[in-house]
Amino acid sequence: MRKVRVRFAPSPTGPLHIGGVRTALYNYLFARQMGGSMILRIEDTDSTRFVPGAEEYINEALQWLGIGIDEGVREGGDYGPYKQSERRDIYRTYVKQLLDAGKAYYAFDTPEELDAKRAEVANFQYDASTRMSMRNSLSMPADEVQALIDGGHKWVVRFKIEPNREVLVNDLIRGEVRINSSVLDDKVLYKSADDLPTYHLANIVDDHLMEVSHVIRGEEWLPSAPLHVLLYEAFGWTDTMPQWVHLPLLLKPDGKGKLSKRDGDRLGFPVFPLEWHDPKSGDISSGYREAGYLPQAVINFLALLGWNPGDDREIFAIDDLIKEFSFEHCSKKGAKFDYEKGKWFNHEYLSAMDDAQLAQLFKPVMAQHGVDATAFADEYIATAVGLVKNRCNFVKDLWDNCAFFFVAPHTYAEKDVRKRWKEGTDAIMTELIGVLEGIADFSATATEPIVLDWIKAHEYHMGNVMNAFRLTVVGECKGPHMFVITEALGKAETIARIKRGIDNIKPAE
Ligand code: GLU
Repeated sequence: MRKVRVRFAPSPTGPLHIGGVRTALYNYLFARQMGGSMILRIEDTDSTRFVPGAEEYINEALQWLGIGIDEGVREGGDYGPYKQSERRDIYRTYVKQLLDAGKAYYAFDTPEELDAKRAEVANFQYDASTRMSMRNSLSMPADEVQALIDGGHKWVVRFKIEPNREVLVNDLIRGEVRINSSVLDDKVLYKSADDLPTYHLANIVDDHLMEVSHVIRGEEWLPSAPLHVLLYEAFGWTDTMPQWVHLPLLLKPDGKGKLSKRDGDRLGFPVFPLEWHDPKSGDISSGYREAGYLPQAVINFLALLGWNPGDDREIFAIDDLIKEFSFEHCSKKGAKFDYEKGKWFNHEYLSAMDDAQLAQLFKPVMAQHGVDATAFADEYIATAVGLVKNRCNFVKDLWDNCAFFFVAPHTYAEKDVRKRWKEGTDAIMTELIGVLEGIADFSATATEPIVLDWIKAHEYHMGNVMNAFRLTVVGECKGPHMFVITEALGKAETIARIKRGIDNIKPAE
């Protein structure tokens, strides 16, 4: 069997869209599963659409997500250069090959002439039925053609498509797609104006030369596939034509139409992996990384947008995805982009994360809130985040749930005070301080029975006393188990907080 070689071939025309990331991911999963190679090819032949910073953005996004590249501009490899603008000489050779074989021809029609023709002929298409009425090397005498070329007249090379032939695209997801070649136009393959090929020619030549075995790309490229099949034939490369795989579209959350950047803006979720600062407009588009997503969660979320394991499992680490991924389980139907599900995945990965690791991610959040993380032991921070992580979707949410571990409360939730702090509560809290002072082992398991027994012995109201206690320590009546909190805070800090509560909390009028 042929060695598996796949490529992700983005054009650096802006930030990589989340749909493009999914394409990269499926290429990667398949390459790893098959022990093949993953190529990153930069398709930058359309200089008018080039955006500075886009290529760096692509690299950074793939790196953040852990989508490893085996061959590429930065990685090197035996099939380079991996950037199309550095392969001009190669394309020239292959365009010449098609011209010499009579499978392509020069065309001289100016944009104005083409517009005039379109205005004159309804549904005009440059093809076998019209090409002889146009200005090209098929309709004009050879000396005239040469004179135009020599005179520096702008020309393009068009692919000469034979009409009325059945073209078969064999696609691993879509099955056999057949079209009649007459619906295709004589696509422009090369432009003298920029001395560069168009996407179609460069793409095919590179896939061939880079020995790409599977072309895995978004469904929006399916209409180009018949042309690509014909190009492989025209070059005589049919034997090594790659297997086509067109992935289902990513749809808007309501399933009506393709997911766009505007949906993200409208509905308030990122459609880009990383934040993007548009160099021209200065606009900032939000990214998953900056929104607080864990890369593993984004990978898991994207993997299931278009693929399913055949059962109802949802949590897949990257290695499991590599094992289980298959095109048979990719759907033909578009995949609805369910942003809430994305949050759910992040929640799952956050709650499953090792506390010590999570503590490291939390330190910058502490700093944002003016807390010096170095003032606390790593284990203490880990305990704090570990106690609240399953209440949070994002690392930054941890703060609201565990800030009291780092900053003693200086205000107290009003409605809790009204409910739990009565005339006489301060006296009971003073008594509680005495009880706590007498406890040598401040662990939760040792402290809990002593305090509860004291409450019972005095026939105090369990709920009121425990909540008043919590109010002084946390600042409000919620949070993890009370004695786990006091164990982490330690005896001195717990007692100091109760004292501060007694001094500062006044019963509501
Ligand atoms: N350069 C194309 C893109 O930007 C590549 C399409 C393909 O994979 O053939 O998506």
